[in-house]
Amino acid sequence: MKLELRSLQAAYGKVQVLWDVSLSVEEGQFVALIGANGAGKTTTLRAVSGLMPLKGGRILLQGQDISRMPSAQRVQQGLGHVPEGRQLFPGMTVLENLELGAQVRTASWQVKDQTLGTVFDLFPRLAERQGQLSGTLSGGEQQMVAIGRAMMALPRVLLVDEPSLGLSPLLTGVVFKALKEINKQGVGVLLVEQNVRQSLQLADQAYVLENGQVVREGSGQALLEDPEVQRAYLAF
Ligand code: ATP
Repeated sequence: MKLELRSLQAAYGKVQVLWDVSLSVEEGQFVALIGANGAGKTTTLRAVSGLMPLKGGRILLQGQDISRMPSAQRVQQGLGHVPEGRQLFPGMTVLENLELGAQVRTASWQVKDQTLGTVFDLFPRLAERQGQLSGTLSGGEQQMVAIGRAMMALPRVLLVDEPSLGLSPLLTGVVFKALKEINKQGVGVLLVEQNVRQSLQLADQAYVLENGQVVREGSGQALLEDPEVQRAYLAF
């Protein structure tokens, strides 16, 4: 399923933070969106999933304009969002949090059980801990639940915001590997990351956001080799 952002503009009150964000996630593509703190990466993902109103521009999912569609409906159309900070319900168990992700889809219990199986294959740790309260999980385990919860709605395109935040290099590797696996299963991924080198290594295509505008794009490899990107984001 193709996702297209065309000249997105968005503002918090009078302060405009997105000026011109255009990018595409082709069917099954892994796309990284990088940029400095405050560039507008989180705002972009929030706009795409309908948590932030647009001031201008259009969002197309498989050619359909979803710019004004309510969030829940976008999820039903195949758009998943793993938000920054995970946003789990800490007083609910791992299993309950995962099941919540399936609520928006009117799938049968059979499909839900099957999807749960896929999530547990991806993160065996969650299968072991399904009865544990989410608030007592480690940061890495919470990130696994957040990704698993989004997967329960059977997304065709997944927006992932800073999954490595606060994680050890080891767990960051586990999470990135899972995202690559999800992508291999045909799900398009739009990944926002501070961890620029690793996300560019994973990405088919990448975009650089500066002050609410896309200023550069290319394959992950091309941006890794781009002297400007190296100077600004890879600290050579
Ligand atoms: P980071 O990597 O630091 O999360 P980012 O690229 O994701 O940065 P955003 O979080 O999208 O950037 O923020 C873009 C701009 O919008 C920043 O200047 C930020 O201060 C501002 N901003 C974000 N959220 C709000 C809000 N709720 N109200 C007002 N301004 C906001």
